Amino acid sequence: MSLLLIQQYFPAYPAHMHAQILQLHTQDKLQHYISQRYPQAHTIQSDKALYDFCSELKQRYLKNAPLLDKVYFDNQLTVEKQTLGLNTAISRVQGGKLKAKKEIRISAFFKATPAEFLTMIVVHELAHLKERDHDKAFYQLCQHMEPNYMQYEFDCRLYLLALALKRLPVIPGVEKDRLDD
Ligand SMILES: [Zn+2]
Repeated sequence: MSLLLIQQYFPAYPAHMHAQILQLHTQDKLQHYISQRYPQAHTIQSDKALYDFCSELKQRYLKNAPLLDKVYFDNQLTVEKQTLGLNTAISRVQGGKLKAKKEIRISAFFKATPAEFLTMIVVHELAHLKERDHDKAFYQLCQHMEPNYMQYEFDCRLYLLALALKRLPVIPGVEKDRLDD
């Protein structure tokens, strides 16, 4: 069961990485790893604060990208649904013209995460203003905005995994059988 979850949270990673993560988990070190590395909470709790945070990053790194019409925390985007951020261009008729409204929605989940994970998801959604797919150019842009982007993304997966594992019922013996596979 734990290994299944690990595979689910790290689909693009090789089996030896899954085994390492499982080991961290069975040694009860996952939580510790995260709280050691990311002790810093953040104060961005309102949509206004989130908008300002996004705009600042956008101004600094993506001056030519379209203006953001709306940025907000969304309670509908949940970890269970596996959607943590969204970005949309909604077309609306305005004064006889079709105008695309750019919106970024960030899961309200990130209000209570370490600061670095909020930065990671905001950078991710901002990068989509210029790059649609999750390709090399996309990740290069993410790393341009936040040099530690890849590390933060990986560790955020660990953070989410740790939370999911906590919700799992503990079935004695199962962990050991998995390890012996
Ligand atoms: Zn994306």
